[in-house]
Amino acid sequence: MNKNRINILKKINHRDGPIVYWMSRDQRIEDNWAVIFGLELAKEKNQPFVIVFNLVKSFLDATYRHFHFMLMGLKETQLKSHEYNIPFKLLLGNPIENIPEFLRKIKAGVLITDFDPLKIKRYWKNKISQAIDIPFYEVDAHNIVPTFYASDKMEFAAYTYRPKIKKLLPYFLEEFPIIDNQKKYWDFEEINPDELLSQIKVDTTVREVKDIKPGATNAQLELDYFISHKLNKYNELRNNPNYNYQSNLSPYLHFGQISSQRIALEIKKLNSEDANTESFLEELIVRRELSDNFCYYCPNYDNNLGFHEWAIKSLQEHSKDEREFTYTLEQFEKAQTHEDLWNAAQMEMVQKGKMHGYMRMYWAKKILEWTPNPEEAQKMAIYLNDKYSIDGRDPNGYTGIAWSIGGVHDRPWADRPVFGKIRYMNLNGAQRKFDIVQYINNNLYLKLI
Ligand SMILES: Cc1cc2nc3c(=O)[nH]c(=O)nc-3n(C[C@H](O)[C@H](O)[C@H](O)COP(=O)(O)OP(=O)(O)OC[C@H]3O[C@@H](n4cnc5c(N)ncnc54)[C@H](O)[C@@H]3O)c2cc1C
Repeated sequence: MNKNRINILKKINHRDGPIVYWMSRDQRIEDNWAVIFGLELAKEKNQPFVIVFNLVKSFLDATYRHFHFMLMGLKETQLKSHEYNIPFKLLLGNPIENIPEFLRKIKAGVLITDFDPLKIKRYWKNKISQAIDIPFYEVDAHNIVPTFYASDKMEFAAYTYRPKIKKLLPYFLEEFPIIDNQKKYWDFEEINPDELLSQIKVDTTVREVKDIKPGATNAQLELDYFISHKLNKYNELRNNPNYNYQSNLSPYLHFGQISSQRIALEIKKLNSEDANTESFLEELIVRRELSDNFCYYCPNYDNNLGFHEWAIKSLQEHSKDEREFTYTLEQFEKAQTHEDLWNAAQMEMVQKGKMHGYMRMYWAKKILEWTPNPEEAQKMAIYLNDKYSIDGRDPNGYTGIAWSIGGVHDRPWADRPVFGKIRYMNLNGAQRKFDIVQYINNNLYLKLI
């Protein structure tokens, strides 16, 4: 395996003992570079390979909807791991205590984990690294081109990152090796999602959604459907919220139930280098991986200090501008603004667990327009997105919101009230793009269900 996918978190001599993969972001067995690396190491050292997943009792405002989606997916992942004779252990509680304790208990020789640019995950890793005395590796199993290898700084925009990614793709966009069964070392346990859901503290008012079904098998079915029914019109229709021409893969990508590299390989296999595949791969690879770059190199990815200087200055200059409407978090959450289009987008997210990509931009920009200041706007947008979107709490979410409200990865536009030089979007523009009445009818009245 390409060793540039690996970042060493703790450099220390290897010693005998099981090779442990603390699975976190990439919750799948196949097409997972952390699993591949762990099995390679286990074979080389003649040691068992073990996976451990630590379930925290609450996480960044995640709700029942998120935990349900994740645990149902993990149940499938665990069954798959057993097909390869890989023990899969689930721990409940604080990873900073649980992981070192588990490693001591089984006398582990090496710890591996998957890459995640978010602050909380980096904090956990740092603490765990301090508490253990075995080598600790981080494998970027989420991006095709590893974030820490692609660039050593925060990229200015897609146009600065694209050439770096394109240059490196031939080295990283390769077929995954087939993984072998290891011999059976331990008896296996089975995850019981219902029992676990009863043990964690979550907001149970936000329920699972019926149309986005969890797990690696459903992720593959969604990909197959996208390729056979939607890809040929992706470029033309993906920005029309009345047509469901996006892939709907973001929830599966977020929980690592499918690998972006697998998706890209399947798309490449079609050999149709047209505008549809090109724009889809641009989103899947360049834009998605740019979000990881932003969150990795900018610790202020979730607050106004992460904005470009021109944006901070411009928003500041307009901070006293009169707002025609202002709403509280509760009014936004209950879709009680004066505008049916915005309310419909909010209801789409609340009820369906995913808002259309075009509407996400519009939705966040209107929050900027209708709140007293950009700090509050960003906080509210993150809170609502993370609470209701299955794919929330993701670098794409923090970056998408920073793009909409703070011009991150964008350029300055003509100066105007409230927005300053941040790109503006309005109802007339939406009306020119698609039939907003149809969208409102399809989504706003969902609240009556
Ligand atoms: C305000 C705002 C909030 C957002 N919140 C999230 C979020 O919480 N989670 C999330 O995954 N995405 C988020 N996005 C990015 C984007 O809207 C979604 O990734 C996309 O709509 C997901 O639907 P899909 O998988 O059907 O997309 P498709 O159009 O089928 O795209 C395929 C994949 O490409 C990637 N992608 C597509 N658009 C973008 C983009 N603009 N930036 C980065 N990657 C992209 C995603 O991984 C996506 O799954 C947000 C964007 C904005 C403007």
